Amino acid sequence: MSTENPAAAPATPTAAVPQDFIRQIVRDDLASGKHHVVHTRFPPEPNGYLHIGHAKAICLSFGIAGEFKGWCNLRLDDTNPGKEDPEFVEGIKDDVRWLGFDWHSLRHASDYFEVFYRSALKLIEDGVAYVDDLTAEEMREYRGTLTAPGRHSPYRERSVEDNLDLFRRMRAGEFADGSKTLRAKIDMSAGNINLRDPAIYRIRKVTHQNTGDAWPIYPMYDYAHCLSDAMEGITHSLCTLEFEDHRPLYDWFVDKVDLPNHPELWQSVVAAGLEAKPAKPRQIEFSRLNLSYCITSKRKLAQLVSEGHVDGWDDPRMNTLRGLRRRGFTPAGLRLLIERVGVSKQNSVIDYAILENCVREDLDATAARRMAVLDPLKLVLTNLPEGHEESLTFANHPKDESFGTRQVPFAREVWIEREDFAELPPKGFHRLKPDGEVRLRGVGIVKCEQVIKDDDGNVTELRGTLDPETRHGLPGADRKVKGTIHWVSAVHAVATEVRLYDRQFTVAAPDSEEDGKSWLDHVNPDAKRVVQAWLEPAAARVEPEQRFQFERLGYFVADRVDHRAAAPVFNRTVTLRDVWAKPAGA
Ligand code: ATP
Ligand code: MG
Repeated sequence: MSTENPAAAPATPTAAVPQDFIRQIVRDDLASGKHHVVHTRFPPEPNGYLHIGHAKAICLSFGIAGEFKGWCNLRLDDTNPGKEDPEFVEGIKDDVRWLGFDWHSLRHASDYFEVFYRSALKLIEDGVAYVDDLTAEEMREYRGTLTAPGRHSPYRERSVEDNLDLFRRMRAGEFADGSKTLRAKIDMSAGNINLRDPAIYRIRKVTHQNTGDAWPIYPMYDYAHCLSDAMEGITHSLCTLEFEDHRPLYDWFVDKVDLPNHPELWQSVVAAGLEAKPAKPRQIEFSRLNLSYCITSKRKLAQLVSEGHVDGWDDPRMNTLRGLRRRGFTPAGLRLLIERVGVSKQNSVIDYAILENCVREDLDATAARRMAVLDPLKLVLTNLPEGHEESLTFANHPKDESFGTRQVPFAREVWIEREDFAELPPKGFHRLKPDGEVRLRGVGIVKCEQVIKDDDGNVTELRGTLDPETRHGLPGADRKVKGTIHWVSAVHAVATEVRLYDRQFTVAAPDSEEDGKSWLDHVNPDAKRVVQAWLEPAAARVEPEQRFQFERLGYFVADRVDHRAAAPVFNRTVTLRDVWAKPAGA
């Protein structure tokens, strides 16, 4: 926990200063003196790992705190025991750091269970909360509808004394799960259904991952969330649009409990060693990030894991942050996406290709180049002596000399990509063909003179010659041929497993449930393909998570979990071009 430092504000590739309505509100509040320090929070529920949608909420809350030299807390919203797990807490912390942010203070909603309880007693004493004996089903029935007002519960007019007594006994564990509920007494005919006497506490005898069996009652989200914000002195509580209708309730609880003026409610937190600086927070809503070809719901992502559609939460097919990370996506690429998408109240679906382009843009600048052959075909250069070997100097980056150079071994036999040869070339094919010429990248021009096949007619080997006049540094090196292909030396190449990933769903809106199909019907069966490939030696001797452009093939990362220098495993992050784009005229 870093208590002194403002949230980190990492540089994104295009460091434009974002201008959006939330930043304008923050700017105005600082200018008017309403606040001196902006304090935000990111409040995930630890019931799963974070996904690409959360990246927007993280970049916004941590980003604003960083830009305005304020603070952002990470708060685990753990009021739903049973669905939550410490494994997810660690995962969330890890993912936030990986994205490039650090929190001012790490909190749990469960840190405030005593505050919530005392505040509820206060609401009862003030005559604005009551214990109800209606069952959940009856409560639904009494609530009314969008067009019909609700009805008062027969228990609504219990005396303060009775309510205090019953609520204390709820807390003492005297009643069965679901048999009683503490409700706010607001307005059963309110147009906004959230204000029709919402629940504050329910009875649930479930062990909590932080507080164990200390509490048989748990606070509801709408009650716990706003009071947590108030406790921490959050100035701007940023959340997604689905909470807009909850804002009146958020404000109602904050005003009725009035933490800043009632230190007796929260002194226990200070006594427990946590800083408290209660204030009145303001909730501001923004639109969710939705991406085509993606699912952004923890529940559904959990289903993909539990039903074995993927190998885990960090499977590179998943659009969880750990899946994207393992796939090779970069924090800067994701931050760039969020910056490009911007902040508004307009719900929309962002094309997955925009995410891929942001990642390509970052990797183009930051990834060194290497050569690899994914689908090998042997080419023997017959005019080189048997055992011929040399070491060629290659630049690691075509546009950035600071990447330096490396040595690439070259020999008489090389692997080339099978698809770079065509026996019957289609029109406009500029790579290798019988009697045709092509440039071997960094070597010179080779001519294909013989095509060797097996009994079934499959091409097994090519034989050709290297034009010695076209070697690097010689006057003939400039001789033009139309195509250049990559290669690796067959004797020097390192065998590697390469995992080729593609979009997880075959349709842009897997969630739409059109044609009566379930989102699971759209899982892309070809989203993962494994091939055995050959690498130049300098690509194999690397640490996990090192990223490269394999020339002409795409961006790849050494797998975080399975890669070893002696047994390399690479994941394709993204191809060099958008292969899903509609061909022109289609
Ligand atoms: P899920 O439906 O996947 O469980 P959630 O909203 O319940 O998501 P939380 O852990 O409660 O997940 O979310 C933490 C924060 O992240 C909330 O403030 C929420 O508004 C925000 N958030 C969640 N999904 C998105 C999204 N797709 N785009 C932007 N912000 C999001
Ligand atoms: Mg939630």
